[in-house]
Amino acid sequence: MSDEHPPDLDEPELDEEQSRRMRQLAIDNCTMCDPDGYRHEPKGIVCHHNPRQDEINRRGIEQVRAVLGPRKPGPQPVSHDLVDVVARQRDAGPPQPITDEEEPEL
Ligand SMILES: [Zn+2]
Repeated sequence: MSDEHPPDLDEPELDEEQSRRMRQLAIDNCTMCDPDGYRHEPKGIVCHHNPRQDEINRRGIEQVRAVLGPRKPGPQPVSHDLVDVVARQRDAGPPQPITDEEEPEL
């Protein structure tokens, strides 16, 4: 057999039989999936045969959240409700004193 060597661009891809055997080997060595390579839990998704994949995915999600939040400075989308409240306060003039009137009973 040949020694390991850097990947050659002209190197032919694995033939069908080789890749099938590689896949089967990964499945055989994996405790997370069935013989067809699908995960037991969560059921039905294709297995990557990597016990750390769930952790990697979780960390990826955390990194995305860390990048996206907290909110960036600058203009934020304003809800129409808030625009409405601001407009009403402006139209109402100075704040009205709160009266002691009781709520009418229904
Ligand atoms: Zn697997």
